[in-house]
Amino acid sequence: MKTADVAIIGGGLIGASVAFELAGQKLRVTVFDCRQPGREASWAAAGMLSPAPDSPRDLRLVPLSRESLRLYPEFVAAIEEASGQTVGYAREGTLELFSAPCAEADRDKRVAECRPSGLAVETITLDVARHWEKAIGPAARAAAWFPEEGTVEPRALMSAVLAAAQNRGVEFRSDCTVEGLTREHGRCTGVVADGEEISAAQVIVAAGCFSSTIATGSELLSRYAPTRPVRGQMMALKPDGASLRRVLRSERGYLVPRRDGRIVAGSTSEEAGFERRVTPEGMRKIFDAALELFPALAGAEVLETWAGLRPGTPDDLPILGPTDIEGLVIATGHYRNGILLAPVTAKLVGEWIAQGRTTIDATPFSPLRFAHQKPLARTAD
Ligand SMILES: Cc1cc2nc3c(=O)[nH]c(=O)nc-3n(C[C@H](O)[C@H](O)[C@H](O)COP(=O)(O)OP(=O)(O)OC[C@H]3O[C@@H](n4cnc5c(N)ncnc54)[C@H](O)[C@@H]3O)c2cc1C
Repeated sequence: MKTADVAIIGGGLIGASVAFELAGQKLRVTVFDCRQPGREASWAAAGMLSPAPDSPRDLRLVPLSRESLRLYPEFVAAIEEASGQTVGYAREGTLELFSAPCAEADRDKRVAECRPSGLAVETITLDVARHWEKAIGPAARAAAWFPEEGTVEPRALMSAVLAAAQNRGVEFRSDCTVEGLTREHGRCTGVVADGEEISAAQVIVAAGCFSSTIATGSELLSRYAPTRPVRGQMMALKPDGASLRRVLRSERGYLVPRRDGRIVAGSTSEEAGFERRVTPEGMRKIFDAALELFPALAGAEVLETWAGLRPGTPDDLPILGPTDIEGLVIATGHYRNGILLAPVTAKLVGEWIAQGRTTIDATPFSPLRFAHQKPLARTAD
């Protein structure tokens, strides 16, 4: 039987970043991916590195997000050095624009919501915002500035993390589906992948929105990782003349600049099952938001459209940590923030595996918060 110290299910940004970290601890790591690694949500993302909450409910995630943003420069440096590739990391900040009749009140409420959790955010005048980004549209009536936010190019980052992990000796098994986990005397002892058993001292589930569909034996992993797909549609535009340096964001959508002048526009948030495709309605929503933020894009060339499946969870928080099955660790459910949260996730999993405890309190994200619930489904056996 083949053996590894660590078997990781899923070669997206989370699985590959964890693999890179663990290979740095001299562990023998094998990553299984049922497709080519890095072609799911991590490939589809916009690449904003924003710890700002989408809603008051998301304030619980801010400390973890801020820590990951703090780790980003050293994460990028390590990946770029180990891979010899660049990842398009930039720290130009984000302008959030408000257009409702009560825009200034909305902006002030948003700033007041963000500041207590330590986020850097300032109110700025529209004159200043338009001085920085000349093409901001007339619909904007108020602006807030998040100076510390950054961006990265997810496909470049994904490619670099895969190369960096490989250069550290990680084995990637592509087109290899993990069908289930093996268990002995209550502990997890490995995986079954394409019918073959591979034994591993630690198994890490990092299969994004698909995590809940993997069998642990007689039940599905949904007991620990009740993930679901939340579709997001995207498009890439080539502006004719206009340019953008900072991320522009509103309630309706966002625009993210790329190094080569392209602008990525997003997104939708849809409960559409595992259907990874774009729709006319989704595209209309993105066009409307993009043109409101930046009307000069009206004549832009549409270079590409795509959709990806975010790994959503019942409480919108990631699922991170050991389970009550020895040898089974979960690192999934990063929903809208998996690109931002990759460095801190790799660090936490590295600490759990090496020391059995973490330097940051990760209890709010424990997979055990769902474990008292009954399994949602059973496998045929
Ligand atoms: C449109 C869109 C925009 C986004 N924008 C941002 C953003 O700006 N900033 C941000 O921080 N986050 C963003 N996200 C979220 C981010 O992309 C995800 O949270 C992150 O990519 C999740 O990474 P992952 O590795 O967990 O999952 P994935 O990238 O989905 O990887 C999971 C992997 O597991 C593999 N797999 C599944 N089942 C099995 C199995 N049984 N056996 C073996 N392999 C399996 C899959 O093939 C896949 O490669 C966005 C997401 C979308 C869709």
